Amino acid sequence: MGKCMIIGCGGVASVAIHKCCQNSEVFEGIMIASRTKSKCDALKEKLQPTTKTVIETAQVNADNVDELVALINSYKPDVVLNLALPYQDLTIMDACLATKTHYVDTANYEPLDTAKFEYKWQWAYRERFEKAGITALLGSGFDPGVTGVFSAYAMKHQFDEINYIDILDCNGGDHGYPFATNFNPEINIREVSAKGSYIEDGKWVETEPMEIKRVYNFKGVGEKDMYLLHHEELESLALNIKGIKRIRFFMTFGQSYLTHLKCLENVGMTSIEPIMYEGREIVPLQFLKAVLPDPASLGPRTVGKTNIGCIFRGKKDGKDKNYYLYNICDHQECYKEVGSQAISYTTGVPAMIGAMMIMTGTWKKAGVYNIEEFDPDPFMEALNKWGLPWEEDFNPVLVD
Ligand code: NDP
Repeated sequence: MGKCMIIGCGGVASVAIHKCCQNSEVFEGIMIASRTKSKCDALKEKLQPTTKTVIETAQVNADNVDELVALINSYKPDVVLNLALPYQDLTIMDACLATKTHYVDTANYEPLDTAKFEYKWQWAYRERFEKAGITALLGSGFDPGVTGVFSAYAMKHQFDEINYIDILDCNGGDHGYPFATNFNPEINIREVSAKGSYIEDGKWVETEPMEIKRVYNFKGVGEKDMYLLHHEELESLALNIKGIKRIRFFMTFGQSYLTHLKCLENVGMTSIEPIMYEGREIVPLQFLKAVLPDPASLGPRTVGKTNIGCIFRGKKDGKDKNYYLYNICDHQECYKEVGSQAISYTTGVPAMIGAMMIMTGTWKKAGVYNIEEFDPDPFMEALNKWGLPWEEDFNPVLVD
């Protein structure tokens, strides 16, 4: 069917690459291009003997538009799948525009110096992508990603209007370390140490970090503490889903994680303000990343399950209705299949599916779109087929 260039070769990319290689009919060729080429080569060496997908590798600095343009022009992919960091979104989008290549990512752009997730920078590319006749699919991970597809599916099949959405992200996994992050520590800590917020009646309501706590009993995991966080998909879902009055995002955290984080915060280790250390500038959070366990090393030691989904409340045929859509994923099963834990798995699988939707022409609109703006049905089908089956509950326990 076609060729895909994958940028980045970290935790999420590794899963997406495994999945592309299982799906050779669509992904006839992939190029893995990242900052550290040896990681790309190691993955190629492992996977090439197992797949018909032809794997190529390259070194690229994705902060540099000219380098990206030259590489895209030499490989001529149908789609660029951006699995580097959010800081690279705009340079990669610029390179896609210059080469008229479709673009897919899993996280919205964030400037390096302010921990602020907003779509405004990427939405500003709408007209240019439309004119170039190419698609940018934003947020094709799990959250954002599957949560948007779930919302579009609920809207299409279960409701006339959705008034309340609660996104619940539960990781019941245990890696045995007192403190480690499940994905890129810098991105993860920036996210959880920021103020919380949710949208009510069209306006953002801000909370202190971890101010709002609830307890929820998750199927497959059990009872967990969860905290309200700001999350990027709130912004797009509040615009794209009809009738929304309030939308919130909760994530579970264990007490050990929170105590360590508080202490690191209190001593200044989570700061993104550069400081001088022995004559050179360092960013405390980047230094912290260097001493924490590499998320990729958690795979073999993590046991337990994740349960991520959305509880919808709204109206169907004039009557009130509640509906919960979720996926349960087992850390050890993921590790057996692709050598990664469930956090990378639940992001890497939808990333592959998003690229597949564009490559097969199943999703075809020129412009910049969030995932819930496309027909959810083929994506929902693909989730069941490619390792993230979903479950429904028509009488869920609600979050107050
Ligand atoms: P990792 O840190 O494991 O991987 C990032 C990769 O990008 C590394 O291979 C890194 O190279 C490469 N990279 C970084 N900077 C550059 C650059 N300038 N040029 C080229 N390559 C670069 O991160 P994850 O795999 O955990 O996360 C990847 C993305 O997925 C992030 O944007 C994250 O926010 C997003 N994500 C989305 C989720 C969702 O549900 N939507 C959930 C989890 C993550 P090197 O190997 O040299 O360091």
